[in-house]
Amino acid sequence: MSTPPRSTPVHAPHAFAVENNELMLGGMPLTRLAARVGRTPFYAYDRSLITARVAQLRAALPADIHLHYAIKANPMPAVVQHLCGLVDGFDVASAGELKIVLDTVMPPAHISFAGPGKGEGELRQAAAAGIVVNLESEQEMETLARVGLELGLRPRAAVRVNPDFELKASGMKMGGGPKQFGVDAERVPAMLARMADLPIAFHGFHIFSGSQNLKAESLMEAQRNTFDLARRLAPHAPGPVRLLNLGGGFGIPYFPGEQPLDLKAVGDHLASLMPDARRAFPEAEFVIELGRYFVGEAGVYVSRVIDRKESRGLTYLIADGGLHHHLAASGNFGQVIRKNYPVLVGNRVEASETDIASVVGPLCTPLDTLADKMELGHAQVGDLICVLQSGAYGPSASPAAFLGHPGAGEALV
Ligand SMILES: *Cc1c(COP(=O)(O)O)cnc(C)c1O
Repeated sequence: MSTPPRSTPVHAPHAFAVENNELMLGGMPLTRLAARVGRTPFYAYDRSLITARVAQLRAALPADIHLHYAIKANPMPAVVQHLCGLVDGFDVASAGELKIVLDTVMPPAHISFAGPGKGEGELRQAAAAGIVVNLESEQEMETLARVGLELGLRPRAAVRVNPDFELKASGMKMGGGPKQFGVDAERVPAMLARMADLPIAFHGFHIFSGSQNLKAESLMEAQRNTFDLARRLAPHAPGPVRLLNLGGGFGIPYFPGEQPLDLKAVGDHLASLMPDARRAFPEAEFVIELGRYFVGEAGVYVSRVIDRKESRGLTYLIADGGLHHHLAASGNFGQVIRKNYPVLVGNRVEASETDIASVVGPLCTPLDTLADKMELGHAQVGDLICVLQSGAYGPSASPAAFLGHPGAGEALV
């Protein structure tokens, strides 16, 4: 199903340059990078784009907003090391992630540990490391106090609050209503009263209401509500609020029709809230905690076409990678309706000849689809398929063992 020659790119890549019809990654043409990596499939993360993204955030947000990276978005140690020099802190959600950040030079006081179901062993490691534990329940507080006593330490803790409001229009809601995350706002005063009797150093509040939000107005409303809630809770605290983690939720566009977040609007609105916030919390550090917004658009998943088949009028490009490396692009990581990520043939970006084709992986399941009937450059066996917007929730969020194929490579370029 070929279309007439054309000169414009089929799917204009967002952030990457194109030279001689090839996507440029880290200043190198894609085919050469594939040779450098030595195999496909692989993920490439462009460090200059990560650096530029942090600079955009710094320019848009008030100067005293601290930026923390939630490493679950992309825990590759090289990426975390790179971000260590750019952001003000890290957030982790397991002992495994804690190990990765403790291998950096980030001061422990700027590392926080969130997530439900922290084990006693994890809490002991966190207390010994001197990081801030975001308490997700009253029981977790008691356990943290006990391991602190055993170690002869006074662990730092913030209370993760399940707010009494929602972040509207979020890809993933993580606050409001009944939730496994945090302690319901109305229970927090009693918890703080108990904390006053425990050998725990109260550090502040963590109020994270949702994720993957592209609507500036929704984020602005949530930030306003977050400050209000913190102001209501602070009088119950056994000490001054030293940390006010406002959450994050800044989204990136994945699908056709989605527009990038209006970062300037969010930043300007936050700036208007800061004078009151500084007065209310004179000892506080204000934190915005982001994952995908730092890294998502800097990453590309690259796989090679190993077969090209026609089946009753449809063209299938069968690649050597698929959902076992990139569950999200297959539409099986929390999406309600499957939509195509931005996909292109990375060595035929400005193709004069195109097809409507589906890109599928090597797994023996119809779920293993990376692109469903997309217009793509006319691809041959050996060509390189690129899935853009793939720097977050990639290999670490995919079922690598499913069907026993090799894992994906990863390169920070
Ligand atoms: C997952 C998570 C994040 C990161 O979410 P993104 O959508 O990648 O920004 C931040 N904070 C907490 C507590 C999380 O659970």
